[in-house]
Parts: sequence; C-alpha cells; structure tokens
Amino acid sequence: MSAEYDIYIDGEWKASESDETFEVRNPADTTEVVGVYQSATSDDAEAAIESAVDAQEEWASTPAPERGSILSETSAILQSRKEELTELLTAEEGKTHGEAGGEVQRAIDIFRYYGEKARDLGGTVKSAGAENKQLYTKPEPLGTVSLITPWNYPIAIPAWKLAPALATGNTVAFKPASAAPGVSRALFEALEEAGLPAGVANYVTGSGSEVGSALASHEDVDAVSFTGSTAVGTSVARQAAEDLKRVQCEMGGKNPTVVMPSGDFETAVDIVGNGAFGVTGQACTACSRAIVHEDVYEEFVDAIVDYAESLDVGDGSAGADMGPHVTESELDGTLEYIDVAVADGATLETGGERLTGDGYDDGYFVEPTVFSDVTSEMRIAQEEVFGPVLAVIPVSSYEEGVEVANDVDYGLSASIVTQDMTEAKRFVDDVEAGVAKVNEKTTGLELHVPFGGYKQSSTNTYREQGDAGLDFFTSTKTVYENY
Ligand code: NAD
Repeated sequence: MSAEYDIYIDGEWKASESDETFEVRNPADTTEVVGVYQSATSDDAEAAIESAVDAQEEWASTPAPERGSILSETSAILQSRKEELTELLTAEEGKTHGEAGGEVQRAIDIFRYYGEKARDLGGTVKSAGAENKQLYTKPEPLGTVSLITPWNYPIAIPAWKLAPALATGNTVAFKPASAAPGVSRALFEALEEAGLPAGVANYVTGSGSEVGSALASHEDVDAVSFTGSTAVGTSVARQAAEDLKRVQCEMGGKNPTVVMPSGDFETAVDIVGNGAFGVTGQACTACSRAIVHEDVYEEFVDAIVDYAESLDVGDGSAGADMGPHVTESELDGTLEYIDVAVADGATLETGGERLTGDGYDDGYFVEPTVFSDVTSEMRIAQEEVFGPVLAVIPVSSYEEGVEVANDVDYGLSASIVTQDMTEAKRFVDDVEAGVAKVNEKTTGLELHVPFGGYKQSSTNTYREQGDAGLDFFTSTKTVYENY
C-alpha cells in the first residue's frame, strides 16, 4: 500500500474536506502506486488563501534577511534530501535519474539564490534637488499570491515561484499539477523545518478546474503566477483580469533550431537531438522544429535519425537515456500528432510507435520520432506536441529560415547553429522569442537571468528567475519626503 499524503494549510498537514483522494502511478511501471493525494475542494483552497492572508502582515514585517535565512536553510534541508527527491521525481514523472537530479539541484540552488537576494532587496534613492527633501522608491510585497504549476518540472518551477514570492514578503497558496504533485511537497516540509511561520505558505493538491480556478479567481488574492498550457493560461489570465490582479502566465512553445551550412555539424545534431528528446520532449523549451538549410539537409536528417535510434528508451531509474510520457493521455496526444503528421504528408523517418513488450507494457513509452519533408503550415510544425517528436523543415536561405522560425503563434526559446557572426547577430535581432541562443540548445537556462516568452508563450508582462523573479512579486512605492 502506498502512503497517503496530506495538504498543508495554516501550518498543519491534514486531509481534504472532500474525503476523496487520487493516485499517482509510476509512468514507467503503472503497477506501482507512487503516492495517494488529497482531492482538495474549493473550500480547502479558500482556507489556504485565508490562512495566507492572515499570515501576511507579520511575514511582510519580518526583516528581509530573516526571511532570507529561512530560504537558505530550506535549501540546505533540500540538499540533504537530494537523492530521495531525485528518486521520487523519477518515479512520479518519469524523467531519467540524471535529468531528475539536475532538476532537484536547480530547486536547491533557487532557494539558496533567493535566500541571498532577500538580504539585498533594493529600493532606489533619487535626488529631490532641494534641501530637506528626499525622494526614493521602496519595494513592498504584493500581499497574498496564488502559484499554479505544471507537472513537467514539478519541483524546479514551484521553487522558482515560491522562493522569490517568500523572499519579497508575500504569502502563498500553491497548487501543483495532479500528474506529479509529490515532489513539491518537499519544499513545504523543508520550509516548515526551516522555521517558516504557519500560514505563510500553503500546499493544496486537487483538480485545476476546482482548486486551480479557486486560487486564480479569489478576491483576496493579489497576484497569480501560472505556468502551464496556453489554453489554461489564457483562462487564468482572463479570470485574474476580472479584478485587476497582477498576473504572469508562462505557457507553451514550438521552439526552433535553425541549422546553417557554416554551423558545426556535430554541434547541430547534438543540440537538436538533446533539445528534442531530452526529458522525453516534455519541456516547454523543447526543440520541436529543426529548420535546416538545404545544403546540409539530407546529411542532417540521416544524422538526427541515427541520434534518435541510438537512444535507449526505458525506465528512467534504470539508466535509460529517455523515460516515458508522464500519463496515458500525454502519450495518446503524441501518438495522435504522429498520425496527423503522416496524414498531412510528412515523411516518417524513424519512430512513430508506442513501445510494447518486455519492460514496456506497463509504461507510457514512445519511440523518439523524426519527420522530414515538413512544411511550415503543417500542424506538426505549428502546434505544441509535448513529446519526443521532431519536425525537420528544409529552407534555402537564412531569410527563409528565420521566417519559418517566426511563423508560429509561440515565441519561447529559439536557437541558430552557425559560425557566421553576422548571421548569429541578425538571428538574435530577428527571432521572435523570449530566449534567443547561438550554438546552444533551446532547453535550459541559468537561474540568474530572466526567462519567459513572446507571443502566445507568455503574458509577457514580467519575466521569471533572477531579479525579474523578484519584480513580479513586488510593488514599488515612490516616496517624497519634505522634512
Ligand atoms: P496545464 O495547463 O494542463 O496545467 C497547468 C496547471 O494548471 C496545473 O496545476 C493544472 O491543474 C492547473 N489548471 C488546470 N485547469 C485550470 C483552471 N481552469 N484554472 C486554474 N488552474 C488550472 O499544463 P500541464 O499539462 O500541467 O503542463 C504542460 C504545459 O505547460 C505545456 O504547454 C508546456 O509548454 C507548459 N510549460 C510552460 C513553461 C514555461 O515556462 N513557459 C514551463 C513548463 C511547462
């Protein structure tokens, strides 16, 4: 029997009002129940918000260095639990052990980073131009904030919202995605152990339509930070706009890598392969389009097919290169897109099938898949698949490459492989994406720089990570004193 886990409201771990639970199974072996979680209700969400509202004044008046110490201590506690959390992340979400370890380390580093930042929350002093007058800005917390996150980075994304929200003196009601709700629980356990006062951060598991919607729309919530699909993010932004809450939605992507003839060929294959098939293609920044100059197109298709076929797909805890999809519905979504691409006339070069047989039957495994002869108007080149499926699109010039790169509704991350400095600089200017990279994969970014998208990848108001992560959770008061 797997353990049943509680929600955390006002400093207490308890069952939901609903008396209902849901199971999370290992996507590599669905006979294993990883955990049983509370199906919380909108009343639980309301209780979480009320306790956060009650705790807010005291937390905001806690000296920022003291808040920072709690975050730093949380980081240390998480570090001591790294291996256990890595195993849990792999078991509930399916990432390989290496990928999961990297993600847990990111969460640890984020808490350490914002622990330091809390000691350095700056206002600015401006000259008032006269004696006995002072003009300056003073950062203040927004109040109580709701944080809603997806399953695909189930500890790093909660960490990169929670840590800056707390560092700046806000209190929090948080909901993880139901496909992988367990590993983020550790953040709240660690915060509690580090001395976070009751009510400051609350953890509520349950459905998006009930708990998520309640968190996004409650009148006592001052801001909503959401990461997930563009469809849900749009409705969250709409709800938040009803009473002018500050809102930040980071959403889907259809990220391109443009491969030019001058580029280092091995680098191109490596970064496209890693960007497309790493974390089973389940990254918002996954490379799902390789836009390849015709001079190297055929050679590139052969090489990326070899790359895909060399990957060992399997249980991420047992040394595989690529793990399973997180749920059956995500697997079905990928298989459907594969059928659509074939029907639209793309050439299936490799993959395309669910993996079955020994070691596969109880998991949601799919072959790494490459399509060639893709044109930009095909659905496989336009819509987010969220699986290990790469569309290779031939182009005849840099201009056409960048036109195709921009010919989608999304604009999260984009890269170019080239040794031509002018082309590289032009790409950085021309590409419509929040993150532009040269000779780098579309996935991954250091934690101290802003991260976010253009177009339908983001509400594009505030960025996450680094100082930008603090800005979202901060109000600026301008003070003019005449004394
Ligand atoms: P999702 O939109 O289905 O769910 C995200 C969260 O929203 C979950 O916690 C869910 O329960 C909740 N939710 C669902 N309906 C809701 C509602 N009506 N009101 C409020 N909350 C609701 O996304 P997902 O399947 O968990 O994650 C995959 C998506 O996330 C992909 O589109 C991916 O590109 C995107 N993503 C974006 C980024 C980024 O930074 N841009 C990062 C990771 C993932």
